[in-house]
Amino acid sequence: MTETREKPAPAGAAIDTVDAVIVGAGFAGMYMLHKLRQLGFTAVVYDAAAGVGGTWYWNRYPGARCDVESINYSYSFDPDLEQEWEWSERYATQPEILRYANHVADRYDLRRDIRFSTRVTAASFDESAQRWSITTDQGDDVSAQYLVMAVGCLSTSKMPEIPGIDVFRGKWYHTGHWPHEGVDFTGQRLGVIGTGSSAIQSIPIFAQQAAHLTVFQRTPNFSLPAKNAPLDPDEFTALKARYPEHRHEARTSAFGVPNPLPEKSALEVSDAEREATYEAGFEKGSLVGMLLSYNDLITDKAANDTAAEYVRQRIRSIVEDPEVAEALAPTDHPIGTKRPCLDTDYYATYNRPNVTLVNLRKTPLVEVTETGVRTSEREYEFDSIVFATGFDAMTGSLVAFDIKGRDGVMLKEKWAAGPRTYLGVATAQFPNMFMITGPGSPSVLSNMMISIEQHVDWIADAMTYMREHGKQVIDPTLESEDEWTEHVTEVGNTTLYPTANSWYMGSNVAGKPRVFLPYIGGVGPYREICDQVAEKAYDGFDLT
Ligand code: FAD
Ligand code: NAP
Repeated sequence: MTETREKPAPAGAAIDTVDAVIVGAGFAGMYMLHKLRQLGFTAVVYDAAAGVGGTWYWNRYPGARCDVESINYSYSFDPDLEQEWEWSERYATQPEILRYANHVADRYDLRRDIRFSTRVTAASFDESAQRWSITTDQGDDVSAQYLVMAVGCLSTSKMPEIPGIDVFRGKWYHTGHWPHEGVDFTGQRLGVIGTGSSAIQSIPIFAQQAAHLTVFQRTPNFSLPAKNAPLDPDEFTALKARYPEHRHEARTSAFGVPNPLPEKSALEVSDAEREATYEAGFEKGSLVGMLLSYNDLITDKAANDTAAEYVRQRIRSIVEDPEVAEALAPTDHPIGTKRPCLDTDYYATYNRPNVTLVNLRKTPLVEVTETGVRTSEREYEFDSIVFATGFDAMTGSLVAFDIKGRDGVMLKEKWAAGPRTYLGVATAQFPNMFMITGPGSPSVLSNMMISIEQHVDWIADAMTYMREHGKQVIDPTLESEDEWTEHVTEVGNTTLYPTANSWYMGSNVAGKPRVFLPYIGGVGPYREICDQVAEKAYDGFDLT
């Protein structure tokens, strides 16, 4: 894997006063910078990474690729960019997506306002100046009218809460911080902990390299075949001709991907019809396609069971050892309520003689030892261990450093019982602070590119409105925040999502409050709500 154009701009440069500080140079921070510049605002971006791309900068494990089709998982704000960029595969690899991020940074000359390898360490709202003071680990001290948090929903990686990691004498890695030079496990005894999307993408490749691969699974996940393939140039050209319509469909859809909404219940059709529908969904290689097979899969357990059982049967038909197949077939959560995955040869990998599955439900992990991993049953020896153990999702990076709002209120204290936001874009007592894809917005339940662009456009419009109306401070009222937070929970409770122990619920982090973090009202309806708030002079916000 080669590094491209990661020339860190010097940190600590003499930027003292800007209109906006943007934290994060992933797809959210990059577009925010471009948009603000276009509107004549000054902005500086900070990122702990040495290059742009966020998720795609950090997650370089083998097999990493998007699971929303590249024709959808890409910016739509500039038709020229859309037309000139060529995706090579249906689901682009991490290196290709990172090349795209670098292309965007070059095309719009973004780097001159990005300070790389610089972590924001504190931000506080200065009541007298009505501005934010932001400090970094490189000694920057900046005053900004606005603070835009583009810190990412899945950017604070998480290690398992087991002792002994420090004593392991071999090498260990986390998928979310993969070495830039790559890792070759050829001939090694390799252990992988976790079976979420990152593991499911990388395990088939690890299995081809390692002498022996041992996978430690706590919860099996539902995964569908990605059916990845090179993009047909003619089809891509045809799509480009109707990109505006295609993007419009995505923006008004449920999940940010064009897909017709189903009208039928899974329980009102014959077994044969249902089977045929699931087969078509499964063979399509699309998560949204499968989950939108019927209109009640995410709201009705009996309906969901039919889809879950279909996928379990497919797993049993691939995996030769019946005991391994049963261990891999998820039964403890409805399909869709933990983030499902798209894979290439994941289940078939367990038919290889050099792959072992350890079911941690039967023999829990106890500790990492000097030479490997110990479960309640025995010790396993490894040359390397990969932790594919995920992230402190949605709130982790927002509360990772001290953000102090009005009256000295700290964000992490305000959110101790769970995040409270208005529209997932702002939180009361933290004036002029915006969050891109924050908790309480569709974010991770959508094609994130669509949700990022919607938030960036909305935030930029709000800042423009403030400027045009001579306003200095925008702050959601506590009432609007309470109502929205309640609404997010209520809508979540009409679905099966809260029944699962997922990172959507904060369940993967010890001590994190159990709250449904994203908004499941749908990308299209959510956009309408945000637009109406703006049309009504930012209803629910105090503007002073
Ligand atoms: P990020 O890309 O996470 O960028 C945030 C940046 O903020 C990071 O670079 C981080 O270093 C920086 N940062 C955070 N805190 C600080 C701080 N205090 N100081 C300085 N810098 C800071 N979504 C989809 O829609 N489709 C997909 O197929 C898909 N695949 C994914 C695959 C993986 C492996 C992962 C982990 C996530 C995936 N996602 C996917 C979600 C993905 O995170 C988003 O699609 C998108 O890339 C998020 O962009 P972002 O700019 O909001 O955040
Ligand atoms: P994840 O989905 O949270 O998976 C983490 C895995 O580690 C789970 O299997 C979890 O088990 C396991 N785990 C955590 N702590 C453990 C412990 N102490 N002992 C044993 N097992 C433990 O993380 P991820 O795979 O990195 O994916 C996170 C999200 O990023 C995805 O859901 C998706 O949104 C995005 N992503 C997308 C893609 C893609 O295909 N484009 C690829 C990667 C990531 P439990 O389930 O039991 O907690």
